[in-house]
Amino acid sequence: MKATPGHDNPREKLLRSELHRRGLRFRLHRPLLQDMRRTADIVFPTVKLAVFLDGCFWHGCPLHASWPKTNAAWWEEKIETNRRRDRDTNQRLAAEGWTVIRVWEHEPIAVAVDRIARFVTTRSGRSLS
Ligand SMILES: [Zn+2]
Repeated sequence: MKATPGHDNPREKLLRSELHRRGLRFRLHRPLLQDMRRTADIVFPTVKLAVFLDGCFWHGCPLHASWPKTNAAWWEEKIETNRRRDRDTNQRLAAEGWTVIRVWEHEPIAVAVDRIARFVTTRSGRSLS
């Protein structure tokens, strides 16, 4: 199941438009592995970069993990399952030569864009304005 509701949440839209403004071109929601449900949010196929936007709650952000008190065990299991799957996805992608950038929900968009742009420009050897 997808952690953040819908593919076009406002944060993701903002990130995409900032990347675009920087002259970066990418693809969206590409399944990258055999398991078709594991879809990166933003993909740069030429430099093999997969970007995921992770919600603090669903992905168990170390800074903002807020464990619900009702059905605590059930939630904990659910979030731990997500975390395990995230780690597993990272490892599998790395094994196939991909770089994974995960953007936490709490991370300022500008910082995330810088991280992504730096990687893409370094890897592709092009310079951006
Ligand atoms: Zn967080």
